[in-house]
Amino acid sequence: MIKDIQLRVTLLEEKHPNILTRKSAKVLGISEAKISGIKVLRKSIDARKKQIIFNYKVAVYINEPVPETSAYHFDYRDVSKAKSIHIIGFGPAGMYAALRCVELGFRPIVLERGKNVQDRRRDLKAINQDHFVNEDSNYCFGEGGAGTYSDGKLYTRSLKRGDVRRIFENLVFHGATDQILVDAHPHIGTNKLPKVVQNVRETIINHGGEVHFDTKVTDFVIKDNTIKTLVLQNGEAMDVDKVILATGHSARDIYYLLYEKNIALEAKSFAMGVRVEHPQHIIDSIQYSCSGDRDDLLPAASYSLVEQVNGRGVYSFCMCPGGFIVPSATANGEVVLNGMSPSKRNNQFANSGIVVEINAHKDLYKYEHFGVFKALEYQKDLEQLAFNAGGRTQTAPAQRLTDFVEGKLSADLNPSSYQPGLKSAPLHSLLPKLIGGSLRNGFKIFGEKMKGYYTEEANVIGVESRTSSPVSIPRNERLEHPQISNLFPCGEGGGYAGGIVSAAMDGERCAEAACGIVD
Ligand code: FAD
Repeated sequence: MIKDIQLRVTLLEEKHPNILTRKSAKVLGISEAKISGIKVLRKSIDARKKQIIFNYKVAVYINEPVPETSAYHFDYRDVSKAKSIHIIGFGPAGMYAALRCVELGFRPIVLERGKNVQDRRRDLKAINQDHFVNEDSNYCFGEGGAGTYSDGKLYTRSLKRGDVRRIFENLVFHGATDQILVDAHPHIGTNKLPKVVQNVRETIINHGGEVHFDTKVTDFVIKDNTIKTLVLQNGEAMDVDKVILATGHSARDIYYLLYEKNIALEAKSFAMGVRVEHPQHIIDSIQYSCSGDRDDLLPAASYSLVEQVNGRGVYSFCMCPGGFIVPSATANGEVVLNGMSPSKRNNQFANSGIVVEINAHKDLYKYEHFGVFKALEYQKDLEQLAFNAGGRTQTAPAQRLTDFVEGKLSADLNPSSYQPGLKSAPLHSLLPKLIGGSLRNGFKIFGEKMKGYYTEEANVIGVESRTSSPVSIPRNERLEHPQISNLFPCGEGGGYAGGIVSAAMDGERCAEAACGIVD
């Protein structure tokens, strides 16, 4: 017999190796000897009260053996002779689109401007150490897209858009830990993601698909309102039938190309701000109500903050406990920040984007003349501002949190995980009022909500500007562009996702649409 039950375990109890069996026996009113095994289905930590509680959902096996860990199975077919579907971009959306094509019996041909995960590392080193951005291979571009050298947090609010469990099982099938199927806040870590991404590529190739790196699409040929040909940077032209456009939100050249071809785009509301970095022990002590180091059983603490400031949302974004701030620019002449963390989340810093909602239709009147690109131009200006304020390298402008809020230049800064370095700058006066003013008020409120958060030991660093796309590419109910047949805008670049999991789910949906399955 198998019984699913919920258990509450205190931190002290959690240290006991047999605690789940003992508690299960008590809840079920049976002897421990009758329990042949326990499988954890869900685990979360509740640290809202002084007493930290581990909440478990477990399957208790009574007088019957626990099955081996389920091997997740995906029915990938031999597609070497099947009809082709071209996919531009090999981020989460492109990868999952390609895998779904293979399942459905179509042959994906993936074109990716960046390098494979291994070669990409050299370009990341160049950004961090030499302040040089390779415009085709960086933290956003290359195998696995922006999702590879990322945090690998897998939570999504887009539960309605697809089958999250299926996405997770597929990650496990390709080498991610099966812990992601259990944790309430699943996370893979930047050290583990490249192998998973590489395994996805191998599945595609081993089943007859193609994945081409260093292959940038620079033009499309459209005839009779149908996409016919892709032109690559090396001049090669490729005739195509269906095209999934999964180029992400940083491929500005693709937006410009669509615009030049009179293909409809829309300006999109988004959010921008700064990244704030605290010593991890401060966040731990707030979240776990502890004075010294957190208990070894507890992961580096995270937080999620959201507040309305004068009717405008200010919120934390992509919080990385035990992580690093990374330079995520895709061109020289701009400074863009994002965060990542290793699977153990054992770095000494906690960083998070703190961003302000920007309504593309109400807030950007000075940028109206840029039309559909008004939000994108605003984003570019902010990134260039950060570049200039940081000293025209990848060094980022920064201020102590308290100085930022009080409007003072910082005489010195706190240590930081950001490898290219920080330069003291008056971000409080440099940032547009819309962002700077909302952030300053927001930080004060956050400090009241989380005692200890508002501290001079934290740095505010500029800028967090790529939270989502500032442009969207419309599509109809068949997920095709309304003007161009056989072109399927997909993932974050189209404005249909915000994160790894939602991009992956959208990739699957677009593949289904391109393969002729429409729900
Ligand atoms: P992308 O991942 O942006 O992929 C697009 C791909 O298209 C790129 O590989 C690019 O090289 C390629 N491409 C672009 N133009 C062309 C062209 N012309 N020709 C050929 N190829 C082209 N999200 C989370 O959910 N959790 C996290 O923890 C997280 N951490 C992040 C950390 C960092 C440092 C960054 C940068 C992002 C992070 N994100 C995170 C965001 C997440 O990575 C993105 O939401 C996701 O990758 C979007 O997927 P996508 O496939 O739509 O686009």
